[in-house]
Formats: sequence, structure tokens, C-alpha cells
Amino acid sequence: QISICWLRRDLRLHDHAALYHALKDKQPVLLLFIFDTKILDRLGQKDDPRISFIHRTLETIHQELGSLGSSLLVKYGKPEKIWAEVLEEYEVKKVFTNKDYEPYARERDELLAEYLRSENIPFETFKDQVLFENKEILKEDQKPYTVFTPYFKRWRQKLDPFYLKAYPVKKYLKNLVQIEKLPFPSLKEIGFQKSDYSFPNINFEHKLSGYEQRRDFPADDATTHIGLHLRFGTLSIRHAAKTAIQQGAEKWLSELAWRDFYMMILWHFPHTAHSAFKPAYNRIRWRNNETEFEAWCKGTTGYPIVDAGMKQLNQTGYMHNRVRMIVASFLTKHLLIDWKWGEAYFAEKLLDYDMASNIGGWQWACGCGNDAAPYFRVFNPELQAKKFDPENRYIHQWAPEYKEKKHAQPIVEHAFARERVLKVFKEALNET
Ligand code: FAD
Repeated sequence: QISICWLRRDLRLHDHAALYHALKDKQPVLLLFIFDTKILDRLGQKDDPRISFIHRTLETIHQELGSLGSSLLVKYGKPEKIWAEVLEEYEVKKVFTNKDYEPYARERDELLAEYLRSENIPFETFKDQVLFENKEILKEDQKPYTVFTPYFKRWRQKLDPFYLKAYPVKKYLKNLVQIEKLPFPSLKEIGFQKSDYSFPNINFEHKLSGYEQRRDFPADDATTHIGLHLRFGTLSIRHAAKTAIQQGAEKWLSELAWRDFYMMILWHFPHTAHSAFKPAYNRIRWRNNETEFEAWCKGTTGYPIVDAGMKQLNQTGYMHNRVRMIVASFLTKHLLIDWKWGEAYFAEKLLDYDMASNIGGWQWACGCGNDAAPYFRVFNPELQAKKFDPENRYIHQWAPEYKEKKHAQPIVEHAFARERVLKVFKEALNET
């Protein structure tokens, strides 16, 4: 008789809510990971770096568990089928997992909960991925916040040491099930290839002191690049927030709050996964010109900061936040291309892709989200570049063609594009 702790986006053996609770319970614990074909089959590239990252991380966990006399059970397939198999193979008494707030994950977990109920197996789920979830931060009228500033005020007030305490998993690791090492599939066996991307370091502490001053200047690379580690849980959010508080890095801490905020918004308003938070914006008549979209994807728009950003994304799977805002505004407003196209392209390319933050970021840039800037704010990419990359260091690093005097003409003229988008948005919002 065993308990199962199912790992998903929490790939670590320390400060882990579900694992802690599982180990403290009565039965020995077996850890499980499922390569979910419903997710994998949607990925376009066989060398998707995120799959390499997950695989590499699981390999380390597999080894660590091996050295503790236990192992990791790795499966490949549709979760409902895999769970039926697991219950056949093992005498499972209880299942533990950390909550995942994305619409697909919620549906998947509800199905599992139902199935386990029919088998009389308790299913326990925990908050682990965020500091505050769903209904923990509500307005006085018990409704969710939809504007960040007041949400953050409440979030910050509530964030006392209790919420930052690490789960002391190590003390209980002796309660892992003791078994022979289980087979570990190669990337090839799950239909993928190794990516040659390099992954960002997990150390972020040294970046916090200069963050507030330099974070908006992409050439300085003054942000932490820990998005990937938070996405897959190789870094605990509690540890990140605790370190920020110890170092007095309040600005950076507020960025972690944005992450909670968007996760909470997606949970309360799951329709935002595929349509605008503000419904009137679903009426916008996008131009959706495919040639222009391709130019944007490739970084050949003739706007140096936009092209540099897209090239950084295409080459590294990362783009600086300020530049994400500029390219997203450019796509939706200058080119009048549906934010969902851009959102999908980012989803394919970003190492730190996270549905809630990506949708939040895109809807913010387009003006159709919650807490949005007015639609008539249209970033001028040249002025943005002057302000945030005054010496063209970022531009020349990623788009060296702009070192030359002669280069591509802008795909669209700024003043013209500005007039055009204002007209189209006004029409959609019935403000003519
Ligand atoms: P740092 O500045 O060092 O911040 C630390 C962490 O705080 C980040 O890793 C992230 O987890 C969180 N964070 C920071 N800014 C934000 C923010 N605005 N919203 C939510 N969380 C934030 N972030 C993602 O994690 N995944 C995405 O898919 C994503 N897509 C975006 C799309 C657009 C159009 C925009 C404008 C922003 C998007 N962001 C996304 C938010 C932000 O750009 C990234 O989190 C940040 O650039 C990651 O770099 P970093 O780890 O160096 O960040």
C-alpha cells in the first residue's frame, strides 16, 4: 500500500507542499510524473527546449530518489489512461498533488478526482505554485480584484512570514517508498530531441539590488530570468519572495505579485484564455495580414527595437519585459493583428511561457484586458527605443543589421498606423 505524489509544474524535492503532506501521512510515497500526450502532441518542434528542460530536471530527481533508495515513476500517455494503469499496478491508498490553475489542468484534475472517488481513493490538492490563490485575496464585497494596484496593496499586507515558510520535506524523506530504480525514458522514447538552448541559471539573489533602477533597460539584462524556474517549479515561489523581502527588493516582489494576480484572474475568468476580458474588444476588426505577421515573427518590420526583440526571442526563447510590451503593442496596434496570434507565437517560443501571464501581458498590451491602459495609448517604438536603449546596445546585439546605415524601411509608418488603430478601436467600442 502506497500513496502517490503526482508532480506537474513543481519539479523539485524541497519546499514542496504536496510532497510534504504525502510524506507526513501514513503510507510510503511514490513520486509520479506523466508526460501528457494531450500537451506534447500540440507542440510544433521536436526539439522544444521546454521538454528538454523538464526531461533534464526529472533525470536529476530520478537520481536523487535513487540515492535515497526510492525512484520516480515516469509515464507517457493520456492522464486518464495512465491513472487506470497506475491503479492496476500499485495498491494506491491516497493521491497528493499541487494545484494547477489553468483551464485544461482544472478539467484534468476534476476528472481524476471523480475517478479516484469512484475507487474510494482520497485525492488531496495543495496550494504551492503561488503565494495567494483564487479567493485568498478578495475585495471587501467578496469579489475578485480586477485592478492590480489595490490587489497588490492587500496582497502585500497579507504576506506575513507564515506564508513564506518552507515545507521541511527533507526531514520526512525516509518515508519514500523503497524500491528498485524504475526505468527512465529517453527523450527519443517520448518523441523528442535534445534542444541546444542554454537554460537560465536558477540563482537570482545577486540581481535584486540593482533591479529597480535598471530593470527597464534591456541592454543591461538586469532582470533575473527565473520565469522558467517558476514555471516548472524548480524554484519555490516562497523562497523567491522571502529572499526579496530579506533584501528589501520590493519592486521585484511586486513582480511576483503580478504573477499571482494573473493566475488568479485566469482562475476567476477562464474565458480570458481565448477572448478579451472586456467583451467589446472582441468586436475589433483585425486586419490579420499574414505577410506582416511573418515579418513580425522574423524580426523584419524595419523597426529596430521590435526586430531586436523578436530575434532575441527566436534565438534564445527569452525576451526582455519592456521589449515584450513594445512588440506586443506593435503587433496589435501598428499592424492590427489579433492579440491571440501574438499570444500563440509567444506560447510556442518562450521558455518561461505561462498561460496566465502571457494572456495577461497580451491583453494588457492590446488594451483589452483588466487593469488596462486606455486603448488610445499607442507606444511609439522609436521613442521607446530612444528612452530605454539610448545607445542602441540592445538593438545592435540582437539585430546587428541596424549597425549599417542602409537597412529595411519600416513596414508601416507610425503616424499613419496610430490614426488607423484609433479609428478601428473606436468603431469596435462604439465611441465614434
Ligand atoms: P523579472 O523581472 O526578474 O521578474 C521575476 C519574475 O516575476 C518573473 O520571472 C515572473 O515570474 C514574474 N513577473 C515579472 N513581471 C511579470 C509580469 N508583468 N506579469 C507576470 N509575472 C511577472 N511572464 C511569464 O512568466 N510568462 C509569460 O508567458 C509571459 N508573457 C508575457 C507576454 C507579454 C506580451 C508581456 C508584456 C509580458 C509577459 N510576461 C510573461 C511577463 C514578463 O515579461 C516576464 O515574466 C519577465 O520578462 C520574465 O523575465 P525575468 O524572469 O527576468 O523577470
